[in-house]
Amino acid sequence: MVLALYMRVSKEDACLQQESNSIYYQRTMLKEYVSKHFKEYQLVEFVDDGYSGTHLNRPSVKKLLEYVRRKLIDCIIVKDFSRFSRDYIELGSYIEQIFPLIGIRFISVNDHYDSEKTQGGIGTLDISFKFLLYDLYSKDLSVKVKAALNAKKEEGIYVSANSPFGYEKSKEDRHKLSVKEDEAVVVRRIFDMALCGYTCVQIARQLNKEGVKTPKQFRAKDNKILEWHSSAICHILKNEVYIGNIVYEKYYKKEVGGKRYLKPRSEWKIYHNHHEPIVSRQIFEKVQKKGKYTKIDGTDKKHPLTGKLLCNCGKKLQLKKGANAYFRCPYIYVTTHANCIRKISLKFLEEYIVHEMQRYIQTTHLSKELVDVWIDKILVHSESNIEIIWNNENSEYSEY
Ligand SMILES: [Zn+2]
Repeated sequence: MVLALYMRVSKEDACLQQESNSIYYQRTMLKEYVSKHFKEYQLVEFVDDGYSGTHLNRPSVKKLLEYVRRKLIDCIIVKDFSRFSRDYIELGSYIEQIFPLIGIRFISVNDHYDSEKTQGGIGTLDISFKFLLYDLYSKDLSVKVKAALNAKKEEGIYVSANSPFGYEKSKEDRHKLSVKEDEAVVVRRIFDMALCGYTCVQIARQLNKEGVKTPKQFRAKDNKILEWHSSAICHILKNEVYIGNIVYEKYYKKEVGGKRYLKPRSEWKIYHNHHEPIVSRQIFEKVQKKGKYTKIDGTDKKHPLTGKLLCNCGKKLQLKKGANAYFRCPYIYVTTHANCIRKISLKFLEEYIVHEMQRYIQTTHLSKELVDVWIDKILVHSESNIEIIWNNENSEYSEY
């Protein structure tokens, strides 16, 4: 019998220092349970460290499900349901339908749940209630964690996992920042160049020419070839962290686990004189007056092709909007790559894709509804003159 122990700890658990959710504790209690309830067995461990339970997009859970699919395991054991998933509708479908169908036994120790003992619907009602409660708890917990973090920030305690470029977490106190001199040199240089009238693009290009290490190269152990992007420069030039301030509560979420939205600048909270500045306030303010380093956040809808087109260098192509909208490599003005895409017309791409889709439709048997949805999605963003007419008689598209 092959038993799979699945363990998960989220960033929130680590932040609240809930010992009962640590991997060490989960492993100990699961092994204890196994030794009490099983005689002959083989153990496989799956651990996701630092992942939220609100989705199944976790490396070890994916691996676990692959094992399930290939029938390499007989039973999954977790500390509680929420370790496996906090999306309780998804959890329900796995536990009540998918696992029983494949013949996988599921045990949640703290919930006193064992699928082998709850066959025939006994206890399923109980489980449904439990899921419902967990769902409420999950949302409640997220709000609580956020409130706890904000309270810490108000006291000037640095709680982020990473330190900003130019700083490191102080060796005496992990909740304070101290200047990291080798990186600070680059930060000062960037501000000086901006003061001289260089734009973000020009600064990035110059740093790349000189081979100045990027923040990632400073921090990462593997020496990946990375280049400065103008957006990284803009980000540094408008970041108040360099005059000693900490800005927080910049984002809000409409729903738990949902997308983050940027709040208007006036609603951000600032903790002044939190740490040693790298740049003087006068320089910072002069730079702010000189350039528009605050990006207008793009709240408008994304084009359906955004994120789907890749440059020869591997970067996702960026859409430049306007009358003659086009896609280009985001690194085109700062890169030293010769093969990067400079310009590819959006109109051309859309027409090409619609054309290819029509060709594809003619050779396959897709439903009209599905095809209409696809084509609508592309054309709604396009001002192109292509019109697609569905011809019922011979089931073919004609183009006008
Ligand atoms: Zn490129």
